[in-house]
Amino acid sequence: MMHLIEKLNPQQQQAVTAGLGPVLVMAGPGSGKTRVLTSRIAYLIGEMGVRPYNILAVTFTNKAAREMANRVTDLLGGVAPGLTLGTFHATCARLLRREAQHLPFDDNFVIYDQDDQLDLVKRALADLNLDEKRHRPPVVHNAISNAKNELILPDAYPVQSYLDEVVRRVYKRYQELLLSNNALDFDDLLLWTAYLLEENASVREKYARRFEHILVDEFQDTNQAQYRLLRHLSSFHRNLFVVGDADQSIYRWRGADYRNVLRFQKDFADAQVILLEQNYRSTQAILDVAMAVIDQNPQRIRKHLFTERGAGQKVVLFEAYDDRKEAEFVVDTIRSLTARGRMGLSDFAVMYRTNAQSRLLEEAFLQAGIPYKLVGAQRFYGRREIKDVIAYLRLVHNPNDEISLTRVINAPTRGIGEKTFLSLRTLALRLETSPGALLLEMGRNPEAPAADAINSRARAALVNFGDLLRNWVAVKDSLTPLAMMERVLEDVHYRSYIDDGTDEGRDRWENVLELRRLAAEFQQPGLDAFLERVALVSDQDTLEGTTNAATLLTLHAAKGLEFPVVFITGLNDGTLPHSRSFDDPEAMLEECRLFYVGITRAKDRLYLIFSQNRTAYGFSEPVAPSRFLDYIPYDLLDEAQPTRSRQPRKGQGERRLERWDAAEVIPSRPAAPVERRYQPGMRVHHPSWGEGMVLNSKLQDGDEIVDVHFAGVGLKRLVASLARLEIKV
Ligand code: ATP
Ligand code: MG
Repeated sequence: MMHLIEKLNPQQQQAVTAGLGPVLVMAGPGSGKTRVLTSRIAYLIGEMGVRPYNILAVTFTNKAAREMANRVTDLLGGVAPGLTLGTFHATCARLLRREAQHLPFDDNFVIYDQDDQLDLVKRALADLNLDEKRHRPPVVHNAISNAKNELILPDAYPVQSYLDEVVRRVYKRYQELLLSNNALDFDDLLLWTAYLLEENASVREKYARRFEHILVDEFQDTNQAQYRLLRHLSSFHRNLFVVGDADQSIYRWRGADYRNVLRFQKDFADAQVILLEQNYRSTQAILDVAMAVIDQNPQRIRKHLFTERGAGQKVVLFEAYDDRKEAEFVVDTIRSLTARGRMGLSDFAVMYRTNAQSRLLEEAFLQAGIPYKLVGAQRFYGRREIKDVIAYLRLVHNPNDEISLTRVINAPTRGIGEKTFLSLRTLALRLETSPGALLLEMGRNPEAPAADAINSRARAALVNFGDLLRNWVAVKDSLTPLAMMERVLEDVHYRSYIDDGTDEGRDRWENVLELRRLAAEFQQPGLDAFLERVALVSDQDTLEGTTNAATLLTLHAAKGLEFPVVFITGLNDGTLPHSRSFDDPEAMLEECRLFYVGITRAKDRLYLIFSQNRTAYGFSEPVAPSRFLDYIPYDLLDEAQPTRSRQPRKGQGERRLERWDAAEVIPSRPAAPVERRYQPGMRVHHPSWGEGMVLNSKLQDGDEIVDVHFAGVGLKRLVASLARLEIKV
């Protein structure tokens, strides 16, 4: 066990072996935060004798959770049975199923995906006689989602305008519909868990006592709901160990709030704060570019990133004629780097701002015959046939699920048109039951009372389907997901429905077979685990580490990962930063952080790519290079096969200086040695950042360097002689 710790640097060791109580590890990319967190789990189990059952470790993506589990297994030399390690959402789903008796839904609830959620918002709007064109469902949905992430329930939804009033009503109806479908959306998983822990002292106590140690990766991306539930879960033992980096916070639009770092320090004032400084991932050339970019963020001061990996190759800048040429450059470069045999395809990652940018890249890879993996739930789980099959299984699992019923009731066509479905729903409403339950009843008893409200032909069709459904429900708990799926596919002749012998038809069937392969991984009878896996599939999920292929992924999906060679494409204003963010300074800062996250994924080589023209709606238009490229001093870059000679852009130098003026510049050091004035724990005041607390201070190059935590802005490293700090008594 100790060999695991010996390989770490002193600060990392300090974090891994920290005693009881709250711990905050804040550090830059590649400094070993995730490694520290996994080592600590192994240390707690292997050295401190903590039972895995008493440990909870959470992160954001399934991919990250899997990697974490693998690392822990490696460190311990075997699996740790009983350890709770997973994404926030999966962990909450499990807890809610176990505690469903305290909640207004059943333990076999289904989890609605983005599309289902939008359908439900539309249904709610319709129920309230509100016009979809005036109140666009995605906008309303977004407002609801934000409220949920802030733990605001419908009745407490703040109303300042007519629009707010509409959202409040739709939110309320939307929640009712979810409950009557026995369904939860993604946000609900967090919301209900936080709510349950808040309202129910005995449940809270049960979990708070159980989880002696709670560890959280990527803490900067937690939202209010996540923070609250972490607080409740850690309320008994208070051993909350969080790691993160405010500079990598990229989920503000999903309610992430990096101020949780400040809340943490306030709520756990006795927390040990540990800063890691050395980067183990990237070459210095890559780190220098990363620093140049993130240092433009006016709310922070320079955080020095250093590595012992050596200078490495300069970062390459490539200017392409258009986005097609960008893709060609990527493919050509990969071909030439792999030709020498020293690199494999899995060493390469191509990153971009929006999913849609992947299409041209995919085409280029296909044309060149280079295998690639596209990371993104969209491609696979967004397919019609996949959604159909999943909807069938969800309906079998929970016949009250109306969204799934709507999807499959007439797919394949079986004579149940819109009108018939409407009569079914109307009748169900009258009988105060769900359409699915009524169908089951009709399948059981074709002469069911009141069914004569529906005309006989339509009724026969409904009875037939009800009978199928009834038979499936009867065996659902005794069949494995695979057997259940095969049974349904066969009963409804699904293959002949989607596979018409064309290429597309075959493709569709191929996708269904792919889903069967996934189902085959679940060997226990019952659909729970399988449906949960499918519902919580994240952006990173289609990425498998083993096969030899390049990886294509969005910058968001790249968080926490690392690759020897990284291409960032589409570095044009409007794409990165995204045009949506132009008017919002906060959003622009987040775009900048996103670029920073991308840069810092690279271990050995980094290519930054932009183009002169971009194709939109079939037309090619001239576009400007990303303003973020201006942040990078020209001498840090190498230009690849320039399509035209590139002079440092006019005004670039001055512009940079201007920006620097606003930041806290570290100038050449004064020669005279100084004494330490600042002690950890001292309260200080800064003219622009307000009140703060000193965490650390050290003498360096004749000046005092102070780490201060400011409420509202976060952790700052300051040069004492320049920082205009006032010590408060
Ligand atoms: P990010 O902010 O991007 O999530 P991180 O801080 O979580 O980064 P890790 O992924 O834990 O960083 O570590 C980055 C790389 O450096 C990994 O390959 C890790 O194994 C390696 N590493 C970390 N610490 C050490 C160490 N002390 N010695 C050698 N390698 C290390
Ligand atoms: Mg990490």
